[in-house]
Amino acid sequence: MPSESGALVARHVLEFPGGYTRTTGPVIGRFLTELRAGRIVGVRTAEGRVLVPPLEYDPATGDAVTSEYVEVGPAGTVTACAWVHEPRPGHPLDRPFAWATIKLDGADTSLVHAVDAGNPKALSPGTRVWPVWRQDRDGQITDISHFAPEVTKIVSHVRAEYRLQAGGALGTFLEAIGRGVFIGGACATCGQVYVPFRGSCPECGTVITEQVELPDTGTITTFAINNLPDPRAPEVPFVSAYILLDGSDSPLIALVGGVPAHEVRQGMRVRAEWIPREEWTPSLANVRWFAPTGEPDVEL
Ligand SMILES: [Zn+2]
Repeated sequence: MPSESGALVARHVLEFPGGYTRTTGPVIGRFLTELRAGRIVGVRTAEGRVLVPPLEYDPATGDAVTSEYVEVGPAGTVTACAWVHEPRPGHPLDRPFAWATIKLDGADTSLVHAVDAGNPKALSPGTRVWPVWRQDRDGQITDISHFAPEVTKIVSHVRAEYRLQAGGALGTFLEAIGRGVFIGGACATCGQVYVPFRGSCPECGTVITEQVELPDTGTITTFAINNLPDPRAPEVPFVSAYILLDGSDSPLIALVGGVPAHEVRQGMRVRAEWIPREEWTPSLANVRWFAPTGEPDVEL
């Protein structure tokens, strides 16, 4: 029939519907027989290189290869790849995949095969791949269904549970919290009062022995509004703050509750809101948060 250009064009199909049988020769035959058994072999050349797939003659020298077959792979490294966005009928996979040249471990040449990588970004020269074998093998290159990238990561659930052994000073503080009391340490040299109680003065290095009981009221010195949920927080956004307990010279970090986040101010007076007494443990969790007392703000 005439084409657009006027030339006569006819469509021919060359097809062997009953199958086209050809002999493989001993070298390819060995390769395919090994594939059927789930192994990949190459053949060694006279120069000692390993050709995969094997050939009867060394393409580099034209010499006949040796009769030594070498098992290679099964894993290999991609040396080049081309992504197929829309697989066609007859392609090995019915989803987007890549054609890749793969140098199997132990081989000196690369073979071409399909790689099922999910998306183009998961594949590049250097990617390690493993063969995915067909269940029923009959001695064809398609006995390897395709290759797939090596598993390089897993998603695992991590949960760390540990016990913190409180040292002497922290133990003193937490034991008092368990009774609903804040214990600070007063430095006998410089007079600074630290809460939580600590064993030595960071200002002057003096060993602190004097314990002082502090009230559960204080003043917010600085704060942060948090927009990510926290299981301990009343709601989002919530406020965490440095709170200077009355009589202390070092602030304590705690949550602020009972007030909208945008109303929290520096200088705001707060009081600890304790959880029910029967739930108390030697833990700062006894204090749910600090809530405004309603007193006038303090000049910092
Ligand atoms: Zn001191």
